[in-house]
Amino acid sequence: MRQRAARDQKRLDSGAVSSPKDLENLQHEIASLAKRQGDLEDIVLEVMERRESAQERVAELTERVASVQSKIDDATARRDAALEEIDGEAASVGKEREVVAGSVPADLLKLYEKLREQQGGVGAAKLYARTCQGCRQELAITELNEIRQAAPDTVVRCENCRRILVRTAESGL
Ligand SMILES: [Zn+2]
Repeated sequence: MRQRAARDQKRLDSGAVSSPKDLENLQHEIASLAKRQGDLEDIVLEVMERRESAQERVAELTERVASVQSKIDDATARRDAALEEIDGEAASVGKEREVVAGSVPADLLKLYEKLREQQGGVGAAKLYARTCQGCRQELAITELNEIRQAAPDTVVRCENCRRILVRTAESGL
């Protein structure tokens, strides 16, 4: 476009154009080419501005990605450490349980296992302040009286949830 404008200008300057109509046409074309050049320059400017702001955005997002990735790495490391700790604890509790289970009479262990299966994993519960810690129900007076009279090695159970009740000094008997 610039070349064409220059060529037109050259023709105009050389005086090769003879008729007034040709002259007018040529001047008109030069003016219109200059306007188009101005428009194109505006567009180029706008595109450059947009490219600049897009580059800023890319930089900002790249930074955010890096920060999120570092948080993910951190959380992953903490999760792995926690899992390792849980595995270790589970193994040690499992061993303890084996020892305790070995000292419990077979029929009581069988009852406990059955209740544990029925009661969502908890077969025995502490009797605390006259309340079964398995189902959180306070025991009735008659029931408490029966438990008071029962021998220490008698297996007592909750009337409500049927779990084995473990008596302690805090049972409220
Ligand atoms: Zn209960």
